[in-house]
Amino acid sequence: MTQFTQLGLAEPILQALNAEGYTEPTPIQAEAIPALLAGRDLLGTAQTGTGKTAAFTLPILNTIVRTGTRPQPKSCTALILAPTRELALQIAESVTTYGRHVRPRIAVVMGGVKPGAQIRAMKGGVDVLIATPGRLLDHMNTGAIRLDGLKTVVLDEADQMMDLGFLPGIRKILNATPKDRQTALLSATMPKPIRALAHDFLTDPVQVSVAPVARPIEQIDQTVQFLDKPQKLERLVKVLSQPGVTSAIVFTRTKHGADKVCRRLNKAELAAVAIHGNKSQNQRQRALDGFKAFRSNILVATDIAARGIDIDGVSHVVNYELPNVPESYVHRIGRTARAGATGTAIAFCDAEERPLLKDIERLIGYRLAVTDENGKIEHPSKPFSEEPRGRSHKPGGGQKSGSQAARGSGQRSASQRRRNRRRRSARKGGTQGAAAQA
Ligand code: AMP
Repeated sequence: MTQFTQLGLAEPILQALNAEGYTEPTPIQAEAIPALLAGRDLLGTAQTGTGKTAAFTLPILNTIVRTGTRPQPKSCTALILAPTRELALQIAESVTTYGRHVRPRIAVVMGGVKPGAQIRAMKGGVDVLIATPGRLLDHMNTGAIRLDGLKTVVLDEADQMMDLGFLPGIRKILNATPKDRQTALLSATMPKPIRALAHDFLTDPVQVSVAPVARPIEQIDQTVQFLDKPQKLERLVKVLSQPGVTSAIVFTRTKHGADKVCRRLNKAELAAVAIHGNKSQNQRQRALDGFKAFRSNILVATDIAARGIDIDGVSHVVNYELPNVPESYVHRIGRTARAGATGTAIAFCDAEERPLLKDIERLIGYRLAVTDENGKIEHPSKPFSEEPRGRSHKPGGGQKSGSQAARGSGQRSASQRRRNRRRRSARKGGTQGAAAQA
């Protein structure tokens, strides 16, 4: 196993890693750090939780130590672009932590706050600028920052930036940087427009791919509860009042929904806070800090606000409403079971959401175990097929836990597949068994 000491990082960085208790690089770090230190471009398929932030941050800090050059006024040496304000702040926190003995000059530039402090922070020049694309373009237009002295650009969560409509802005930003810069692009998925971006702006990149998005982490105990829409609020109170729920994130589809859920939880004296795009940056940060410090143990969030956020120790993720895009389900449940811990993901599904559930199950390759409101398994997980759920199940049979079931189905053997085929053909001839769950 590779150690950080073998990667060629400078002593002040190794000291900071040591203080964090990190000795071994994660797979993406082991591959990306030597490549970036050698000056190569990087194209990484990786989602949050893989250690990707350190993978691109440590080489930037290393260059600052080795070269010792100071940036010109109103310019930066390294630029890290991120889709959301929360992720930008989180990256800044990582740069500060890993750079505690390097003490780089950093500035964070993002929307939702007044620009004055950002302009002042960039005035003397910064080593590392962390920015969301929209606000950075504003500052470029007013001349508060120029990018022609830049050495490294990182595009973090590129697919998320694309979803938010930032691709044209990113192209503009990259066109304002020197051609001989080093570029790293990281993305959880690689849709066509991201590949095109990489093709246009990366030079012979080293390609690294870890933990593809279509495979949810196996330590997560995933279940679904079927219920009517009007039952959801009360069911949520019940689920979150259980003693095993130490720290939970609840996902809603809309900002309005997040507020409504939060109010109901507070009424039930559950310590919940909401984050979404309608909240001011200060409110969002306060909510997040409170959650991280366990002052509130429930965070109610929309996808955009929560993606990329790295919080350890989340015991439960509740999909209060199923996402329209099945990949979002995988991102959402990835908030729990971090750093090798186990976690629980509960999905609520009403009649209208059945097609969304089917899309999710098609993506992950198996049907979620169905539980009643007390979490008791009614139907165990099984491999996904297009046929309706319920026909092959004897109610109450196969009382496996959701995670066992999920693990089992994730590693289907040839004999299991044969058994499933036999069951399917037997069912075609049979008539009984209402499609209870379909
Ligand atoms: P990221 O994917 O960058 O969001 O990182 C996920 C989590 O892994 C963060 O909490 C990091 O602090 C942590 N982490 C990063 N690198 C390592 C490492 N080499 N060993 C242990 N934990 C790490």
